[in-house]
Amino acid sequence: MSTATIPHYINGQMFEGRSAQTQEVFNPATGQVTGRVALASHADVDSAVAAASAAFPAWADTPPIRRARVMFRFLELLNKHKDTLAEAITKEHGKVFTDAQGEVARGIDIVEFACGIPQLLKGDYTEQVGTGIDNWTMRQPLGVVAGITPFNFPVMVPMWMFPLAIAAGNTFILKPSPTDPSASLLIADLLARAGLPDGVFNVVQGDKESVEALIDHPEVRALSFVGSTPIANLIYERGARNGKRVQALGGAKNHMVVMPDADLDKAVDALIGAAYGSAGERCMAISVAVLVGDVADQVVPRLAERARALKVKNGMELDAEMGPIVTAQAHQRITGYIDKGVAEGAELVVDGRDFDASTTGEGCAEGFWMGGTLFDRVTPEMTLYKEEIFGPVLACVRVPDIATAIQLINDHEFGNGVSCFTESGSVAREFGRRIQVGMVGINVPIPVPMAWHGFGGWKRSMFGDTHAYGEEGVRFYTKQKSIMQRWSDSINAGAEFAMPTHK
Ligand code: NAD
Repeated sequence: MSTATIPHYINGQMFEGRSAQTQEVFNPATGQVTGRVALASHADVDSAVAAASAAFPAWADTPPIRRARVMFRFLELLNKHKDTLAEAITKEHGKVFTDAQGEVARGIDIVEFACGIPQLLKGDYTEQVGTGIDNWTMRQPLGVVAGITPFNFPVMVPMWMFPLAIAAGNTFILKPSPTDPSASLLIADLLARAGLPDGVFNVVQGDKESVEALIDHPEVRALSFVGSTPIANLIYERGARNGKRVQALGGAKNHMVVMPDADLDKAVDALIGAAYGSAGERCMAISVAVLVGDVADQVVPRLAERARALKVKNGMELDAEMGPIVTAQAHQRITGYIDKGVAEGAELVVDGRDFDASTTGEGCAEGFWMGGTLFDRVTPEMTLYKEEIFGPVLACVRVPDIATAIQLINDHEFGNGVSCFTESGSVAREFGRRIQVGMVGINVPIPVPMAWHGFGGWKRSMFGDTHAYGEEGVRFYTKQKSIMQRWSDSINAGAEFAMPTHK
């Protein structure tokens, strides 16, 4: 078992940092410590910002087509090494290997999109806005930008950020989650091999202290954050106070409505995958099933049977459907929510706390294991309903009709993702129009938008106004400049007191 230090990556070099502080990194399937991640001090963050600042002028001046070529080479390398990345994810996060492969693939989508940066940066031009006068707009990079990312997608979420930021001409500092930091260094290595100049992409490992140093650093122009709502809120406010551009994506409580006319086999399949996949540790996981009319009596027993039969085991075993919980602390938090659900009167149909870990695989007895949990007759005032649990716990709420379902969802604090299973076009259309949620699926349980559409929730699931990736991502990482020009033969002699465009 290795407990090597997992370092920072600054200016093209692995760097252990000046702070003596480290944090243990676990394999959640075995419960064993596999490394210690360095925790950056202010001085370490300053070194990263200095490297990124120094690299910025030359990188910003590099023609977009050449920056795109680096992205193309990175894309090739990613495709070649995608399973190495997926394995690194499973070993520190716990999600099953096939799911980790899917995570890498969704990250690769964004890199493909970023390869089109010359087209995305193309400006607008209007000839002859006045006699002899032309006006155009262009988009220029901001400078040093930073990304602060959560534990649950250690490859995909950084890739929501840096491919576009870098392709647009910025230099980037990634501050990954200290829970699963290793994938960030594999990415740094692939970028270097793709020919990215030193200092353009840097990794600072750490937690609160390094994040605060990034928010307060005057040379960091923009922050992209993905994580829980309290921290997203804090980063948005502190970043804005420091005059920075901030997009901060927060937590979620995603509902899936099942209408009486839905194909119930497909709805049950969708709920099982979306609630228990990745042990419910997805910001787009379904944690509430809203069962309309008499659907509950048919759906709940089928969900129970399937939840009990989940193959919960070491994610490196290819038939695993659900892996362990990411940390012992998260395990404790989720168990606490189940205890509270019982105390508050919800009907516990399947209890994941009872899970027998002996079937999880060799060497896994000490892992952070739990089975899928199912509650029925959950009501909106219960803690179980209101708060994000971020674990394999599905709450069923029974409602009489679609209007009550929509009202229930619209009244919730969060508005990240939502889904409606129905065979009715008019219900689907009305649902899509009326629902106060940023990402909507019709018969799609986890509607994560494609690379060119952009990702973002509403209400307290997102602070800021430009979504991650897509064209909004390009706008976030660039500022627009307007240039108006004329040449001497169209300039009249003498001072002008009227607007020249009026002539
Ligand atoms: P988290 O908020 O604990 O951590 C996210 C990042 O913030 C990490 O890099 C962490 O080191 C840093 N951080 C933690 N505490 C901090 C503090 N006090 N000050 C400054 N920085 C701090 O989130 P997590 O547990 O890593 O991830 C799970 C959360 O992320 C869930 O709430 C989930 O819904 C959310 N999430 C949201 C999306 C989305 O797109 N909306 C996507 C993925 C995850």
